[in-house]
Amino acid sequence: MRRTTGACALFASAALLATTAISPTIAADRADPDSHHGGGHGGGHHGGGHHQPPQKTPTQVGYGGAVSTVDPEASRIALKVLRRGGNATDAAIAAAAALGVTEPYSAGIGGGGYIVRYDGRTGRVSTIDGRETAPAAMEHDAFIDPATGEPYPFTPELVTSGVSVGVPGTLATWDRALRRWGTHSLARALRPATRLARKGFVVDETFRKQTLDNAERFGAFTSTRDLYLPNGDAPKVGTKFRNPDLARTYRILARHGMKAFYRGPMAQEIVEAVQDPPKTDDTELPVPVGSMETSDLANYRALNRRPTKSSYRGHDVYGMAESSSGGTTIGEALNILEQFDVGSMSDADALHHYVEASALAFADRGAYVGDPSQVDVPVKDLLSDKFAKERACQIDPTQAQAKPVAEGDVSSYDGKCDGEAKPGVVDEDTENISTTNMTVSDRWGNVVEYTLTIEQTGGSGIVVPGRGFLLNNELTDFSTVYDPEDPNRIEPGKRPRSSMSPTIVLKHGKPFLALGTPGGSTIITTVLQMLFNRIDRDMTIEEAIAAPRAAQRNTTTVTSEPDFMDAYEEMLNEYGHTLRVSGDILTGSWQIGAATAIEFGRHGKMTAVAEPTRRGGGAALVVKPRR
Ligand code: GLU
Repeated sequence: MRRTTGACALFASAALLATTAISPTIAADRADPDSHHGGGHGGGHHGGGHHQPPQKTPTQVGYGGAVSTVDPEASRIALKVLRRGGNATDAAIAAAAALGVTEPYSAGIGGGGYIVRYDGRTGRVSTIDGRETAPAAMEHDAFIDPATGEPYPFTPELVTSGVSVGVPGTLATWDRALRRWGTHSLARALRPATRLARKGFVVDETFRKQTLDNAERFGAFTSTRDLYLPNGDAPKVGTKFRNPDLARTYRILARHGMKAFYRGPMAQEIVEAVQDPPKTDDTELPVPVGSMETSDLANYRALNRRPTKSSYRGHDVYGMAESSSGGTTIGEALNILEQFDVGSMSDADALHHYVEASALAFADRGAYVGDPSQVDVPVKDLLSDKFAKERACQIDPTQAQAKPVAEGDVSSYDGKCDGEAKPGVVDEDTENISTTNMTVSDRWGNVVEYTLTIEQTGGSGIVVPGRGFLLNNELTDFSTVYDPEDPNRIEPGKRPRSSMSPTIVLKHGKPFLALGTPGGSTIITTVLQMLFNRIDRDMTIEEAIAAPRAAQRNTTTVTSEPDFMDAYEEMLNEYGHTLRVSGDILTGSWQIGAATAIEFGRHGKMTAVAEPTRRGGGAALVVKPRR
């Protein structure tokens, strides 16, 4: 099976540059209280004057419901819904619609995502798969340039293109979630976000920077340029950014329901934007076109799926099943870790086991996980304790395995340590690090964990003209080179493999912790590391989130935040691990993820937690500070 290192390898070296070049600026911005939000507006929708952005609170403890998102406006909206008697699903969808306004480069109705939900009444965990889907006419060679017969370069060709746009699943997810679990209509859930889009939000440093990072791509489309680069510049920090087109779109959806998106004029316009992107005259970007038809939109369904479940040291960990690889990969890595008493180990030994378990689980993810509508995924085997026991045999307590490691054999295992370690292949990794995550709970004990995305920051770069939202480039999550044995090969109508990992952990059948994060394939390692920090390393949930991160995704090096390198590089080098600094050429960020979580204590106590600093910090709120 041929698997190649994709975007990740590229990012690796660029990251070093980006990190050194950018970190002082960011540090200065963070220290400047006025630097949050600045902004012009899009499409001539300016808000004059300088505004203070709403406060961010990384942790709040209380009762009666809680929310954590990356954005204070979205969290505020969710809190209001909870206070007025809405449940966790009502609040989550209202907040998601708000994130479509304030975090439009990470989330929105042009993208997809996954919800994991705990039902306070029945104690059951259920999920919705709202992953974007390949058009029915997508060919195996869709990522081959007909002009050269060679694969399109990932950047800029595939990233900024119509060919990478998947049929969006977000609106269908909202609709399905509200019908299954909500008490509000879609119309009601969209109302606060519609107001936000119309009235505007205060631009912060992150928004401005993300816009500038994408200036070339956004400048390549008339619709995107007009909205996000109104006078040839990104909206300025402290100004108000309004998106009247999106407000109008939300109003149409409120009035006519999701069919107004998946059928009729809006569907037609989405298809036109994919097949014939609204390129500016002066762009030099090639922008390969896609094959989406209106029938693809009409046929789109968000799907109910059974969650994955694994037990870990007395906890039941519920995750997202395939088409995401989050649940199986985290579950398998935990099962492997469970073979060792990591809680009593030194930091160095414990982290060595964490990265080794992660590498093994990633090898199996690459070999076995894809969209179950077209791939027979051996979920039971991947999550079997016996399989984990056998995989754990590969871990030498004193010495790093040679990476990449080979996948295990799911067709024959007995839990015994008799197999020789074989060399593996590095799985292509083209996932990006945009996306956003939220955690919401209510007074009835329901918990919603929701990760949503438009793939990379800014998605495909294409705003649907007149509609105010960006289309995703999620199909870049398929392996870019077609191989019939690869579970993540391109197929028409297929969902590309995701890493999104909304996760809910129960203890004695009751919620203990709900958490998730963005970060492409580092989503998996970040959720895994937070669980490991919280359950095995005796950290509080705040500490578990703030702790420096490292991701071993079965590659020759361990991708690590600078603080992680400072603290642990020397000791991990002694086992033979090589660390390299994390980072991304497009965002210039060296941070991994932007997590949110809620931990549940006794007597209804909820600790809502967001990032204290990553991506500018998040916003955690509770309904009542006291019981
Ligand atoms: N496309 C990625 C996935 O589905 C998410 C991208 C991100 O986190 O930025 O796993």
